[in-house]
Amino acid sequence: MGNDTRIFTDVDYEKDGKQTGWLYLPYSVTRSAYGNISIPIAVIKNGKGPTVFLMAGNHGDEYEGQIELCRLIRTLEPGEINGRVIVMPAANLPAALAGTRVSPLDDANLNRAFPGDPNGSPTYAIAHYIDSVLLPMTNYHHDFHSGGSSLDYVPFASMRKSDSLDLDAKAMAALKAFGAPVSLVWAHTLDTGFANAAAIGRGIVSLGGEFGGGGSVSIAGLRIVERGIRNFLRHIGCLAGDSTVKGDQTPTRLMEVKNRSCFVLAPDAGLFEPTVELGDWVAAGQLCGQVHFVDHPTRAPVPAHFATAGMVICKRRLGRVERGDCVAHLATDWTG
Ligand SMILES: [Zn+2]
Repeated sequence: MGNDTRIFTDVDYEKDGKQTGWLYLPYSVTRSAYGNISIPIAVIKNGKGPTVFLMAGNHGDEYEGQIELCRLIRTLEPGEINGRVIVMPAANLPAALAGTRVSPLDDANLNRAFPGDPNGSPTYAIAHYIDSVLLPMTNYHHDFHSGGSSLDYVPFASMRKSDSLDLDAKAMAALKAFGAPVSLVWAHTLDTGFANAAAIGRGIVSLGGEFGGGGSVSIAGLRIVERGIRNFLRHIGCLAGDSTVKGDQTPTRLMEVKNRSCFVLAPDAGLFEPTVELGDWVAAGQLCGQVHFVDHPTRAPVPAHFATAGMVICKRRLGRVERGDCVAHLATDWTG
Protein backbone atom coordinates (compact mmCIF):
# COMPACT_ATOMS: atom_id res chain seq x y z
CA MET A 1 0.00 0.00 0.00
CA GLY A 2 1.20 3.50 -0.78
CA ASN A 3 1.82 6.37 1.56
CA ASP A 4 -0.58 8.70 -0.22
CA THR A 5 -3.95 9.58 1.24
CA ARG A 6 -6.98 7.63 0.04
CA ILE A 7 -9.16 10.68 0.76
CA PHE A 8 -10.39 12.68 -2.23
CA THR A 9 -12.35 15.93 -2.36
CA ASP A 10 -14.60 18.05 -4.53
CA VAL A 11 -13.08 21.35 -3.36
CA ASP A 12 -10.16 23.04 -5.16
CA TYR A 13 -7.84 24.60 -2.60
CA GLU A 14 -6.37 26.97 -5.22
CA LYS A 15 -9.65 28.46 -6.47
CA ASP A 16 -10.87 31.91 -5.39
CA GLY A 17 -14.38 32.21 -3.94
CA LYS A 18 -16.33 30.21 -1.37
CA GLN A 19 -16.54 26.46 -1.85
CA THR A 20 -18.23 24.01 0.45
CA GLY A 21 -17.83 20.32 -0.14
CA TRP A 22 -16.62 17.11 1.42
CA LEU A 23 -13.55 15.02 1.98
CA TYR A 24 -14.45 11.48 0.89
CA LEU A 25 -12.83 8.68 2.84
CA PRO A 26 -13.51 5.27 1.24
CA TYR A 27 -15.31 3.10 3.78
CA SER A 28 -16.68 -0.16 2.49
CA VAL A 29 -19.32 -1.77 4.69
CA THR A 30 -22.28 -4.13 4.32
CA ARG A 31 -24.80 -1.38 3.69
CA SER A 32 -22.52 0.41 1.20
CA ALA A 33 -19.86 -1.56 -0.65
CA TYR A 34 -18.41 1.50 -2.40
CA GLY A 35 -19.32 3.96 0.34
CA ASN A 36 -17.42 6.95 1.66
CA ILE A 37 -17.37 8.83 4.93
CA SER A 38 -18.16 12.39 3.79
CA ILE A 39 -16.42 14.94 6.02
CA PRO A 40 -17.47 18.56 5.45
CA ILE A 41 -14.88 21.13 4.42
CA ALA A 42 -15.03 24.73 3.22
CA VAL A 43 -12.45 26.81 1.39
CA ILE A 44 -12.92 30.58 1.37
CA LYS A 45 -10.23 32.24 -0.73
CA ASN A 46 -9.48 35.67 -2.09
CA GLY A 47 -6.14 36.21 -3.83
CA LYS A 48 -2.84 36.09 -2.05
CA GLY A 49 -2.39 36.08 1.69
CA PRO A 50 -1.98 33.74 4.62
CA THR A 51 -3.72 30.38 4.81
CA VAL A 52 -5.67 29.78 8.00
CA PHE A 53 -6.90 26.30 8.86
CA LEU A 54 -9.68 26.17 11.46
CA MET A 55 -10.89 22.83 12.81
CA ALA A 56 -13.39 21.57 15.36
CA GLY A 57 -15.00 18.23 16.09
CA ASN A 58 -11.55 16.74 16.59
CA HIS A 59 -13.38 15.31 19.61
CA GLY A 60 -17.00 14.65 18.70
CA ASP A 61 -18.54 15.63 22.04
CA GLU A 62 -17.03 19.15 22.13
CA TYR A 63 -19.53 21.45 20.52
CA GLU A 64 -18.77 25.20 20.69
CA GLY A 65 -16.22 25.06 17.86
CA GLN A 66 -18.45 22.81 15.73
CA ILE A 67 -21.32 25.32 15.92
CA GLU A 68 -19.17 28.41 15.40
CA LEU A 69 -17.22 26.97 12.45
CA CYS A 70 -20.50 26.03 10.73
CA ARG A 71 -21.66 29.61 11.38
CA LEU A 72 -18.39 30.96 9.97
CA ILE A 73 -18.81 28.89 6.78
CA ARG A 74 -22.27 30.38 6.28
CA THR A 75 -21.28 33.99 7.05
CA LEU A 76 -17.66 34.61 5.98
CA GLU A 77 -17.49 35.92 2.42
CA PRO A 78 -14.42 35.86 0.17
CA GLY A 79 -14.65 39.63 -0.39
CA GLU A 80 -13.99 40.20 3.33
CA ILE A 81 -10.67 38.37 3.40
CA ASN A 82 -7.17 38.31 1.97
CA GLY A 83 -5.76 34.81 1.57
CA ARG A 84 -7.43 31.53 2.32
CA VAL A 85 -9.52 30.15 5.18
CA ILE A 86 -9.95 26.38 5.26
CA VAL A 87 -12.62 25.18 7.68
CA MET A 88 -13.32 21.66 9.00
CA PRO A 89 -16.17 21.95 11.54
CA ALA A 90 -16.45 18.21 12.23
CA ALA A 91 -12.96 16.83 11.67
CA ASN A 92 -13.76 13.41 13.11
CA LEU A 93 -17.26 13.32 11.59
CA PRO A 94 -18.28 9.84 12.84
CA ALA A 95 -17.45 10.95 16.41
CA ALA A 96 -19.22 14.31 15.94
CA LEU A 97 -22.40 12.59 14.70
CA ALA A 98 -22.28 10.14 17.59
CA GLY A 99 -21.54 12.87 20.15
CA THR A 100 -18.56 10.90 21.42
CA ARG A 101 -14.92 11.77 22.05
CA VAL A 102 -13.59 8.86 20.02
CA SER A 103 -14.89 7.52 16.73
CA PRO A 104 -17.53 4.78 17.00
CA LEU A 105 -15.95 3.19 13.90
CA ASP A 106 -12.55 2.42 15.38
CA ASP A 107 -12.65 3.63 19.02
CA ALA A 108 -9.76 5.95 18.08
CA ASN A 109 -9.07 9.46 19.38
CA LEU A 110 -8.24 11.83 16.49
CA ASN A 111 -6.29 14.12 18.80
CA ARG A 112 -3.95 11.29 19.74
CA ALA A 113 -3.66 9.94 16.18
CA PHE A 114 -1.32 12.46 14.51
CA PRO A 115 0.59 12.20 12.21
CA GLY A 116 -1.87 9.47 11.24
CA ASP A 117 -1.70 6.60 8.79
CA PRO A 118 -3.13 6.68 5.23
CA ASN A 119 -3.85 2.95 5.40
CA GLY A 120 -5.03 2.91 9.01
CA SER A 121 -8.56 2.99 10.40
CA PRO A 122 -10.80 6.01 9.58
CA THR A 123 -9.53 8.20 12.45
CA TYR A 124 -5.88 7.60 11.49
CA ALA A 125 -6.65 8.24 7.79
CA ILE A 126 -8.27 11.59 8.71
CA ALA A 127 -5.25 12.57 10.84
CA HIS A 128 -2.95 11.67 7.97
CA TYR A 129 -4.93 13.82 5.50
CA ILE A 130 -4.85 16.81 7.83
CA ASP A 131 -1.14 16.33 8.49
CA SER A 132 0.03 15.60 4.95
CA VAL A 133 -2.38 17.67 2.81
CA LEU A 134 -3.88 20.52 4.87
CA LEU A 135 -1.08 21.47 7.27
CA PRO A 136 1.55 21.90 4.52
CA MET A 137 -0.72 24.63 3.02
CA THR A 138 -1.27 26.30 6.40
CA ASN A 139 0.35 29.32 8.06
CA TYR A 140 -2.06 29.63 11.00
CA HIS A 141 -4.03 26.85 12.68
CA HIS A 142 -6.70 26.78 15.35
CA ASP A 143 -8.22 23.62 16.82
CA PHE A 144 -11.32 24.22 18.98
CA HIS A 145 -11.99 21.88 21.92
CA SER A 146 -13.95 21.69 25.17
CA GLY A 147 -13.89 19.32 28.10
CA GLY A 148 -16.17 16.85 26.34
CA SER A 149 -18.47 14.51 28.21
CA SER A 150 -16.18 13.86 31.17
CA LEU A 151 -14.71 17.31 32.02
CA ASP A 152 -15.85 20.87 32.69
CA TYR A 153 -13.53 23.80 31.95
CA VAL A 154 -13.23 27.48 32.72
CA PRO A 155 -13.18 28.54 29.04
CA PHE A 156 -9.82 29.56 27.58
CA ALA A 157 -7.84 29.80 24.36
CA SER A 158 -4.43 28.16 24.44
CA MET A 159 -1.06 27.56 22.85
CA ARG A 160 1.53 24.87 23.34
CA LYS A 161 5.20 25.61 23.97
CA SER A 162 7.44 24.62 21.06
CA ASP A 163 11.22 24.34 20.66
CA SER A 164 11.26 27.69 18.85
CA LEU A 165 11.21 31.01 20.71
CA ASP A 166 10.22 32.77 17.48
CA LEU A 167 7.24 30.46 16.91
CA ASP A 168 6.23 30.79 20.58
CA ALA A 169 6.33 34.61 20.31
CA LYS A 170 4.09 34.53 17.23
CA ALA A 171 1.70 32.11 18.93
CA MET A 172 1.59 34.30 22.05
CA ALA A 173 0.75 37.38 19.96
CA ALA A 174 -2.02 35.47 18.16
CA LEU A 175 -3.31 34.07 21.47
CA LYS A 176 -3.55 37.55 23.00
CA ALA A 177 -5.26 38.85 19.86
CA PHE A 178 -7.84 36.01 19.98
CA GLY A 179 -8.88 37.71 23.20
CA ALA A 180 -10.45 34.97 25.34
CA PRO A 181 -10.94 35.98 28.99
CA VAL A 182 -8.23 33.44 29.88
CA SER A 183 -5.27 32.62 27.60
CA LEU A 184 -3.38 29.54 28.64
CA VAL A 185 0.06 28.14 27.81
CA TRP A 186 0.44 24.36 27.92
CA ALA A 187 4.00 24.22 29.20
CA HIS A 188 3.50 20.55 30.04
CA THR A 189 2.66 18.01 27.36
CA LEU A 190 0.01 15.55 28.47
CA ASP A 191 0.44 12.98 25.74
CA THR A 192 1.45 12.62 22.08
CA GLY A 193 -0.35 12.71 18.77
CA PHE A 194 -2.05 16.12 19.06
CA ALA A 195 -3.11 18.12 16.00
CA ASN A 196 -1.42 21.17 17.57
CA ALA A 197 1.83 19.25 17.94
CA ALA A 198 1.70 18.19 14.28
CA ALA A 199 1.15 21.82 13.25
CA ILE A 200 3.88 23.15 15.52
CA GLY A 201 6.24 20.51 14.14
CA ARG A 202 5.68 22.05 10.72
CA GLY A 203 6.48 25.56 12.01
CA ILE A 204 2.82 26.66 11.96
CA VAL A 205 1.39 29.14 14.48
CA SER A 206 -1.12 26.84 16.18
CA LEU A 207 -3.71 27.70 18.81
CA GLY A 208 -6.25 25.60 20.67
CA GLY A 209 -8.61 26.04 23.56
CA GLU A 210 -11.22 24.52 25.82
CA PHE A 211 -14.46 26.49 25.50
CA GLY A 212 -16.87 24.56 27.71
CA GLY A 213 -17.52 20.95 28.57
CA GLY A 214 -19.76 18.40 30.17
CA GLY A 215 -21.10 17.28 26.80
CA SER A 216 -23.13 20.51 26.65
CA VAL A 217 -22.99 23.79 24.72
CA SER A 218 -21.73 26.83 26.61
CA ILE A 219 -23.26 30.13 25.51
CA ALA A 220 -20.27 32.01 26.96
CA GLY A 221 -17.94 29.62 25.12
CA LEU A 222 -19.76 30.18 21.82
CA ARG A 223 -19.36 33.95 22.16
CA ILE A 224 -15.66 33.66 22.99
CA VAL A 225 -15.09 31.46 19.92
CA GLU A 226 -17.17 33.59 17.55
CA ARG A 227 -15.47 36.83 18.55
CA GLY A 228 -12.05 35.19 18.86
CA ILE A 229 -12.06 33.80 15.32
CA ARG A 230 -12.65 37.28 13.88
CA ASN A 231 -9.95 38.75 16.16
CA PHE A 232 -7.54 35.98 15.09
CA LEU A 233 -8.25 36.58 11.38
CA ARG A 234 -7.77 40.34 11.81
CA HIS A 235 -4.54 39.86 13.74
CA ILE A 236 -2.93 37.87 10.93
CA GLY A 237 -4.11 40.26 8.22
CA CYS A 238 -6.64 37.86 6.73
CA LEU A 239 -9.66 39.97 7.68
CA ALA A 240 -9.72 43.76 7.36
CA GLY A 241 -10.10 45.85 10.47
CA ASP A 242 -8.37 46.66 13.70
CA SER A 243 -6.75 43.69 15.43
CA THR A 244 -6.29 45.47 18.73
CA VAL A 245 -8.24 44.26 21.70
CA LYS A 246 -10.75 46.88 22.80
CA GLY A 247 -14.41 47.74 23.09
CA ASP A 248 -16.36 45.00 24.83
CA GLN A 249 -13.24 43.01 25.61
CA THR A 250 -11.54 42.88 28.96
CA PRO A 251 -7.81 42.09 28.77
CA THR A 252 -7.02 38.41 28.74
CA ARG A 253 -5.58 36.74 31.84
CA LEU A 254 -2.42 34.80 30.94
CA MET A 255 -2.16 31.44 32.69
CA GLU A 256 -0.23 28.22 32.27
CA VAL A 257 -0.30 24.53 33.06
CA LYS A 258 3.24 24.08 34.24
CA ASN A 259 3.74 20.40 34.88
CA ARG A 260 2.23 17.08 35.85
CA SER A 261 1.78 18.17 39.47
CA CYS A 262 -1.13 20.38 38.32
CA PHE A 263 -3.19 17.21 37.70
CA VAL A 264 -5.05 15.30 40.41
CA LEU A 265 -5.82 11.65 39.66
CA ALA A 266 -8.42 9.45 41.33
CA PRO A 267 -6.55 7.30 43.87
CA ASP A 268 -9.04 4.43 43.70
CA ALA A 269 -12.14 3.28 41.83
CA GLY A 270 -15.46 4.43 43.28
CA LEU A 271 -17.67 7.49 43.58
CA PHE A 272 -15.76 10.78 43.72
CA GLU A 273 -16.99 13.52 46.04
CA PRO A 274 -15.33 16.81 44.98
CA THR A 275 -14.59 19.44 47.63
CA VAL A 276 -13.77 22.33 45.26
CA GLU A 277 -15.64 24.15 42.53
CA LEU A 278 -14.48 25.14 39.06
CA GLY A 279 -12.65 28.49 39.29
CA ASP A 280 -11.65 28.06 42.98
CA TRP A 281 -8.09 28.97 43.95
CA VAL A 282 -6.54 26.23 46.09
CA ALA A 283 -3.40 25.77 48.20
CA ALA A 284 -0.81 23.01 47.90
CA GLY A 285 -1.96 20.06 50.00
CA GLN A 286 -5.62 21.14 49.99
CA LEU A 287 -8.22 18.40 49.68
CA CYS A 288 -9.54 18.01 46.12
CA GLY A 289 -12.10 15.36 47.04
CA GLN A 290 -12.46 11.78 48.18
CA VAL A 291 -13.46 8.45 46.70
CA HIS A 292 -16.40 6.69 48.37
CA PHE A 293 -17.22 2.98 48.21
CA VAL A 294 -21.00 2.60 48.07
CA ASP A 295 -20.69 -1.20 47.98
CA HIS A 296 -18.73 -1.08 51.27
CA PRO A 297 -20.09 1.83 53.37
CA THR A 298 -17.89 1.26 56.41
CA ARG A 299 -14.70 1.54 54.37
CA ALA A 300 -13.11 4.96 54.90
CA PRO A 301 -13.17 7.24 51.84
CA VAL A 302 -9.79 7.71 50.13
CA PRO A 303 -8.75 11.37 49.82
CA ALA A 304 -7.07 13.08 46.86
CA HIS A 305 -5.08 16.28 47.45
CA PHE A 306 -3.71 19.04 45.25
CA ALA A 307 0.07 18.73 45.01
CA THR A 308 0.48 22.39 44.17
CA ALA A 309 -1.37 25.72 44.40
CA GLY A 310 -3.43 27.21 41.58
CA MET A 311 -6.88 27.75 40.09
CA VAL A 312 -9.18 24.82 39.40
CA ILE A 313 -9.50 25.36 35.64
CA CYS A 314 -10.78 21.84 34.94
CA LYS A 315 -12.97 19.52 36.95
CA ARG A 316 -14.34 16.07 36.24
CA ARG A 317 -18.04 16.11 35.40
CA LEU A 318 -18.91 12.47 36.09
CA GLY A 319 -19.23 11.05 39.58
CA ARG A 320 -17.94 7.51 39.07
CA VAL A 321 -14.17 7.19 38.73
CA GLU A 322 -11.59 4.55 38.05
CA ARG A 323 -8.09 4.79 39.50
CA GLY A 324 -6.04 7.15 37.32
CA ASP A 325 -8.95 9.27 36.06
CA CYS A 326 -8.15 12.99 36.12
CA VAL A 327 -10.58 14.51 38.64
CA ALA A 328 -9.25 18.10 38.38
CA HIS A 329 -6.37 20.13 37.10
CA LEU A 330 -4.96 23.50 37.98
CA ALA A 331 -3.60 26.48 36.13
CA THR A 332 -1.42 29.22 37.56
CA ASP A 333 -0.70 32.77 36.44
CA TRP A 334 1.83 32.78 33.62
CA THR A 335 5.35 33.64 34.67
CA GLY A 336 6.89 33.76 31.17
ZN1 LIG B 1 -10.91 17.85 22.92
